[in-house]
Amino acid sequence: MATTPSNTIAEQLDLNHLKGSTLFIGLTGGIGSGKTTVSDLLGKLGAGIVDTDLIAHQITAANGEAIPAIERQFGQSFIDPMGALDRTKMRALVFTNPAAKKTLETITHPLIRQETIKQAQAWMTKGALYIVFVVPLLIESGSWRDLLDLLVVVDCPEDAQIARVVQRSNLSPEEVKRIILSQASREERLAYADVVIENQVELSVLNTEVMQLHQKILQIKKDRSSSS
Ligand code: ATP
Repeated sequence: MATTPSNTIAEQLDLNHLKGSTLFIGLTGGIGSGKTTVSDLLGKLGAGIVDTDLIAHQITAANGEAIPAIERQFGQSFIDPMGALDRTKMRALVFTNPAAKKTLETITHPLIRQETIKQAQAWMTKGALYIVFVVPLLIESGSWRDLLDLLVVVDCPEDAQIARVVQRSNLSPEEVKRIILSQASREERLAYADVVIENQVELSVLNTEVMQLHQKILQIKKDRSSSS
């Protein structure tokens, strides 16, 4: 279940301190478009990856930081026997109940924000070449764009998104379609993209695209440092 870290991530990351020392890359795309595949490849090339969807999953896994508050607000029936969020049940609720969605976000967003900032700072300390923020709902959240040096959209046709997600999850094609409809449209995402990674391709071609993106980012970094 993709959740959007709140706007104040941008405000709380200390831009003055960070700008110049590294580049911030936003990576987004619809469900199953290939964000993780692309960010894994960039990570191998030396990028520091901060995956907000992964953070959202971690805080709602068994013993996750968000679990006590979720149990208090929604009741024990939303927690599975292992102590994790019952995602299927929560997904069904928030799709039809905006107030419940808001309550869930009030619990999860501050925790996601806190962890996002922590991980970004850790990558900077480690000297990552640049930082990639994987944010599924980046376009929808708005304020991320001002923070970023480059916005990368991973794009593929809906048919491919549906086939990939159905194959790797227990979601039905109808459920995936509903999620796609609840997200920004392909056109909206592409309108904001500085770079589009076309991912209706063989993995070897995707690799080449990602390598070109990496080179482009390094060039921007070089240009920035020589002009400052
Ligand atoms: P989500 O939004 O659900 O987190 P995602 O955008 O991170 O998904 P991935 O997890 O990277 O997408 O990819 C979805 C599935 O499609 C994965 O099983 C991945 O291995 C597969 N996949 C991604 N790109 C390709 C490709 N070019 N060719 C074949 N399979 C691919």
